[in-house]
Amino acid sequence: MTELRVAIPADITAWLNKVSAGGFGSVNVIASGEQTFEVFDPGAASRLANLPVSSKTSVEQAISRARKSFESGIWSKTSPDDREKVLLALAALVERDFDFLSNLEALDTGKPLAEAMLDIQEVATVIRYYAGWANKVSGQTIATAINLSAMTVRGPVGVCAAITPWNYPLPILIYKLAPALAFGNSFVAKPSELAPLSAIYFVGLCAEAGVPDGVVNLLLGAGQTGSDLVSSSGLDKIAFTGSSRTGQAIMAAASKNTTKVTLELGGKSPQLVFASCDIDKAVAGVAMGIWTNAGQVCVAGSRLIIEKSIKEEFLNRLIKVGEDYFVGHSLDARSSMGPIISATQLDKITSALDGAKKDGAVLHLLGKSSELPGHFLNPIIVEGLATSHSMHQEEIFGPVLTVSSIESESEAIAIANSTRYGLAAGVWTGKAGQAQRVAREIDAGTVWVNTYGAFHPTLPFGGTKSSGFGRELGESAVDGYTELKTIVEDISKAEEN
Ligand code: ADP
Repeated sequence: MTELRVAIPADITAWLNKVSAGGFGSVNVIASGEQTFEVFDPGAASRLANLPVSSKTSVEQAISRARKSFESGIWSKTSPDDREKVLLALAALVERDFDFLSNLEALDTGKPLAEAMLDIQEVATVIRYYAGWANKVSGQTIATAINLSAMTVRGPVGVCAAITPWNYPLPILIYKLAPALAFGNSFVAKPSELAPLSAIYFVGLCAEAGVPDGVVNLLLGAGQTGSDLVSSSGLDKIAFTGSSRTGQAIMAAASKNTTKVTLELGGKSPQLVFASCDIDKAVAGVAMGIWTNAGQVCVAGSRLIIEKSIKEEFLNRLIKVGEDYFVGHSLDARSSMGPIISATQLDKITSALDGAKKDGAVLHLLGKSSELPGHFLNPIIVEGLATSHSMHQEEIFGPVLTVSSIESESEAIAIANSTRYGLAAGVWTGKAGQAQRVAREIDAGTVWVNTYGAFHPTLPFGGTKSSGFGRELGESAVDGYTELKTIVEDISKAEEN
């Protein structure tokens, strides 16, 4: 095997060895069973850890721990001020261990270390944001009949479960866990089998910050463990982020127990570029929108829809940007893009590209890649296919950008809305009215104008159509992780006689 240009930090190697030997360092990991699974560094195709799969018994044990902790009131009935303090301590621990967590997340996902660092900073920021919410949720008094006093109060939902993917392992878990904890819920999480390491480390930090035993429970394993979890009648809510296919299976399982679900699923987000745009800014935004995290992003801006008059110039400039990419190992300082997460995922993408080629597409394969045996794929631009082609319609989850040209605003909107997805969109224009008109017409949960991929803890995030339903982040999480109760009292004098 080719030598790595960068060594894995010694503290991470030591921790991986400990974890592989079953030393999770936290009672919050519930995983015992006969089976094990391996976790790989996708940038070197080498093994990072060997972990136990949580059996059905482990799943039941985790749910029962969560239920007991919830009913005991050890967290659910603490004062919001105390929960705020614990969450602030947790955010501080994430920052204390920032280098460790960033390196671990980079190795596990394959993304360049600089991207993983942004993810871990976001984790601390989101935890702090929801710490602040703990003592700021309140109900209302409501006008009703003259003899009635009516109010609403908010309490925790109960036992909440999260099933999460491998592309942003810790941030996506925290979008769910931070508000759940802030409002007093107990929690069971099942991270992706492809990148579970940061979650294992993080649940240790939860204990250290003072989250009581039983409140946060982590399960390990793949689809079977996830399926055992969501099929349980012991959950009050399931929050899922992942593929549309799995989302449908989870919704079906949840329906049997009338468990609440929120689903954040796939996307095929359009980037609408109009002739009046700031072309330098738009080129940079389109490149970043599709090549960040090797396009393995639910909001990847994977469809360029561009006004014909600037298409040639725009593409020439975009190709130049792509040519500068170096696709390599997460800890190789030269890497501007990492590998695809697994060989299976890489096969899926390359067979979709082969199909496109057969159907007459022109492919631009850009940049250079490392000689390590990672699952590398270069930035790719695909031209020459009808917008009805599956390349334009289906989520590829790779660094692949399709191109279609348009001659009018209405044509751009029609193409943008022509897929079954509705997660996000980008609009690049120099005309203020056009920006607002187009943003309003696009069927998507988020529309970015003259920017792309801007996330903030205050901004609600989620999709329409096959991209799912429910919103995470921002104030929306109050609805997601509290239950609203209406209390009505008869205050007429006769009642007291
Ligand atoms: P991705 O393509 O992003 O990996 P998946 O939907 O396959 O998307 O996986 C997302 C998460 O869902 C992972 O944690 C995975 O283990 C889990 N999962 C897969 N199948 C099921 C299932 N049938 N029920 C519950 N969880 C599942």
